[in-house]
Amino acid sequence: MSKTLISIADLKRDIESMRTANERVAFVPTMGALHEGHLSLVKEARNHADRVVVSIFVNPLQFGPQEDFAKYPRTLKEDIALLDGVDVIWAPNAAELYPDHFQTNVTNRKMSSHLCGAARPGHFDGVLTVVMKFFNIVQPDIAVFGKKDFQQFKLIEQMVKDLSLKINVIGAPIVREQDGLAMSSRNRYLSVDDRADATRIYQGLQKAKELYKKGSRNKQELVDTCREVIVSSKKFAVEYIEICDVNTLSIVEEKSTEKSTTQIPDEPVVMLVAARLGQTRLIDNMEF
Ligand code: AMP
Repeated sequence: MSKTLISIADLKRDIESMRTANERVAFVPTMGALHEGHLSLVKEARNHADRVVVSIFVNPLQFGPQEDFAKYPRTLKEDIALLDGVDVIWAPNAAELYPDHFQTNVTNRKMSSHLCGAARPGHFDGVLTVVMKFFNIVQPDIAVFGKKDFQQFKLIEQMVKDLSLKINVIGAPIVREQDGLAMSSRNRYLSVDDRADATRIYQGLQKAKELYKKGSRNKQELVDTCREVIVSSKKFAVEYIEICDVNTLSIVEEKSTEKSTTQIPDEPVVMLVAARLGQTRLIDNMEF
């Protein structure tokens, strides 16, 4: 059974003893409701360090007022069972992390302004602020994030670089269900019917990638191909489908007014999708 700690002081005490023993510490932040995707990060962390610390915290700072903070699944008992073998599980509480008069944010001024950042104002401030705070408390050598949340992963990398943190950030590949749907804690919101349709996001990305592999570099054609597959289920409302540079996350821009002539550069790109299926917001991406 892993050790579960709540208070910052208890966690710091444990981390301190790891440091004294010269052990390398890897950190995996999560919001719980764990699935195979999370567990793959833990496995990756284990490959790089002597000790693995996993946090479970549904961070109120990163949810908008109309978002699903209250109904976000909280399954601490099951999560602890799934994390058997992890050195420390840290499940802090919001009152200690954000006492009255808490007033400082970490803000990214560029890479957070499009994609999910545009759709969820303040979301990435909340993410960066809590991750920075966690980094300061845990002081890990390594931190592992999933590429399922590709923009988040890039923002953390950028923050570590910009603020000169001495942490090696590792991005882990997306873990998918058998039918291709990217695993997510939010998938449990889906009705049986919606769950069957949800795989279309993966299928759309996959179809666009095939077209790309066959040589298409026409942005509009690639985006339209992906969109058609997704909206073949009328239940979907697409929020965005974009193609971005893998390194900078800048959008591959229309270089002429003639939209259909935009060519994808030969550098690696990532196609990103956000879509709503009923009340549930799903995101996914694929690197080309
Ligand atoms: P969350 O609990 O949703 O905040 O996610 C915690 C971490 O797990 C983040 O770094 C996510 O990117 C990662 N993650 C979530 N789902 C997956 C997945 N299907 N594959 C890989 N990593 C994931």
